[in-house]
Amino acid sequence: MPVRCPRCGFDFRGEIARWSTRCPRTGTCVECGLDFAWADIFSHAAHPWLFEREWKYRPVARLVSTVLHAFAPRRFWRQIRITEPIALLPPALVAATATLSLYLTLAGWYAWGVFGAQVGGVMSLNAWLRRLEQSLFALPRAMASAMPGVLLTLVAMPLAFVVLPVTLRRARVRPGHIARIWLYSLLAPAVFAILWSLVQFTGQFIDVPWLWRPLNPWTYISMFPMPSEPTLVFLGVLLPPLIVLAVLLAWLALWWWCALRHYLRLPKPGRIVASLLIIVGLAAVIVELVLYASGARWWW
Ligand SMILES: [Zn+2]
Repeated sequence: MPVRCPRCGFDFRGEIARWSTRCPRTGTCVECGLDFAWADIFSHAAHPWLFEREWKYRPVARLVSTVLHAFAPRRFWRQIRITEPIALLPPALVAATATLSLYLTLAGWYAWGVFGAQVGGVMSLNAWLRRLEQSLFALPRAMASAMPGVLLTLVAMPLAFVVLPVTLRRARVRPGHIARIWLYSLLAPAVFAILWSLVQFTGQFIDVPWLWRPLNPWTYISMFPMPSEPTLVFLGVLLPPLIVLAVLLAWLALWWWCALRHYLRLPKPGRIVASLLIIVGLAAVIVELVLYASGARWWW
């Protein structure tokens, strides 16, 4: 059985064959420079909370534990060793379920008219159900025109990492690690968005202004006088998606920095994250501007 470097996949069998009288406790990969303890390479002990390990035995407890840990990126990545075997299907299923839940929550919210002009007031359940059906189909277009940069950012981080030549050439990180960092990075934003939408939604349903008004972005946006100058109108339209984009980029920067520093143990993680942010941030802002200029924002 090949014994491989956890970061780059380099085969250690040649080195192990040279051990004759004693075994070293630590080693350094000649290919990528990773320092490691041999005990971690040979250990198969199950991780205490990571979902992808033993999720079949305690799926709910593992999932809750992993989601809670995902809100604290530093602790999350300090507690996962690079030697932890990678299984991508379980986190991919979790990310897909979280996306679907978020989609259904947003569709329910959209049906209520929060995305449109009907902020405030209570709608009958029948009317809501009729609009929910339409919303399920109308939502993708609304999301794509409302926050194209945000959607792009969510999928572009791993791609940007792969096109960064310096990180791959110097450290030869296996793509499985990047996929793992990316899949778990979606958990906290998705759960946050679901909870936030549910609060909005519940607040609208039972009409409790004190509950949903402080959490509704429109409450704050309407506080600012919208510029009426034709040349400045774009500010009022672009500001909300750009604020969401900035918050998301800040979160992803923290998440990837912690993963690169504590999990992949790459040198100069700050520089890599800054490059990622410049690539993804610029692409996202350009997409927002181009879509705005082409007049695709039909719902605002
Ligand atoms: Zn290596």
